[in-house]
Amino acid sequence: MSKDEGFLEVIEAEVAQDPQNSALREDFITLLLQYEPERVASEVDAFEAHGGDPARARVLRARLMATRLRSGHGPTTPTEAAAAQVPPISGTSASSVPTPVSAPADGDVSEDALDQPGLWDAERPSVTLADVAGLAEVKQHIDSTFLAPLRNPELAAAFGQKPGGSLLMYGPPGCGKTHIAKAIAGDLGAAFIHVTLADLLSKYIGDSEKAIRSIFQDARAAAPCVIFFDEFDALGGRRTSGGGGSQAMRMVVTQLLEELDGVTSENDGVYFLAATNRPWDIDPALRRPGRIDKTVLVLPPDAVAREAILQGDLEGKPVNGTDLGAVAAVTEGFSGADIAQVAKIALQQSMQASMSAGAIVPVTTEALLAAAAGITPSTTTWFDQVAPVIEYGVDDGTFEQLRAYRVRRGMR
Ligand code: ADP
Repeated sequence: MSKDEGFLEVIEAEVAQDPQNSALREDFITLLLQYEPERVASEVDAFEAHGGDPARARVLRARLMATRLRSGHGPTTPTEAAAAQVPPISGTSASSVPTPVSAPADGDVSEDALDQPGLWDAERPSVTLADVAGLAEVKQHIDSTFLAPLRNPELAAAFGQKPGGSLLMYGPPGCGKTHIAKAIAGDLGAAFIHVTLADLLSKYIGDSEKAIRSIFQDARAAAPCVIFFDEFDALGGRRTSGGGGSQAMRMVVTQLLEELDGVTSENDGVYFLAATNRPWDIDPALRRPGRIDKTVLVLPPDAVAREAILQGDLEGKPVNGTDLGAVAAVTEGFSGADIAQVAKIALQQSMQASMSAGAIVPVTTEALLAAAAGITPSTTTWFDQVAPVIEYGVDDGTFEQLRAYRVRRGMR
């Protein structure tokens, strides 16, 4: 904790140096919320006094209130109590902020406990899209369809576009959707909640609708916040597959639709990103206009990205003059996960060689090339799978980028 406290002091000094810098003060307040909530109220006053956006100040006060509720203390000042009355940050009235309930003594998740905020962990990613290697076109697409309208809501409105809300990322597995989702959160200066259907079902057996509500509730308390729903197809897949348990799934989807309608109608700083390897399996109701209607294809890493991924995988390991560019050049179609496998095999070999030699034997270009030669790129299977969907499936525009990519790559 002392490290964090030291860190707080450094940022506090920065804020004192540059008192008009609202973004910096907001970052500072976010840290205080976590470590020293008793100092937040006065810092939010200072934030406003130095020209900070009053709407952000309201959000920060509401977050303070949520933090207090979570720790079992209600609002303590008239300003905070008033924050509960001002236009709600969440699209629900502030009076619906759940009343604190004490955790069940036996550790079971009770009905009431599900209403407690703070059940989903929110991290704060430090990566941004600028840190995502290569993929210039993918990043450009995300920026123009999703981030730029959020930055310029008036301009978007002039063209009849509604900024924000949600984005569906699709593409072969292991190609950076999670990485990019975190980077989007980083670009938005937002917190990040990672959700999978498995989490949802295992945490809240028999009450998944409430679980969906609790995710959005926590996201609002941490706003701005990105909810990243991974393996999204698993939720509310097309009913044609006729799977059992679809009644429960249907209720989850219905609840999600309700929350998504809230996200798109209220500017409450909650963003919903979904990722899937199987976009054709997603319930069409979730894809209607105004819901998750923006799509981006996350392609396999290009050569620049492959080299950077390899560099990351070998970071801090014994590598000496290795030609990573050469390895990147022969790994077309490899996913990030495939490349990690190449690095792992080569590292394993050099560790064994080191053990025999009794001294460090660094990873060589040859070992990496040999490892790559032994791996079939996993994205090939995905592109094969997708071919009939593209050829015969109904397309609402989702696959436009995929078609263009296949034509460019000379795939049938
Ligand atoms: P997905 O969510 O699509 O299954 P991940 O985001 O988990 O894939 O990516 C798998 C691994 O590859 C991660 O370690 C990720 O950081 C890395 N990776 C994939 N694409 C990139 C990229 N363009 N830049 C940097 N790292 C990447």
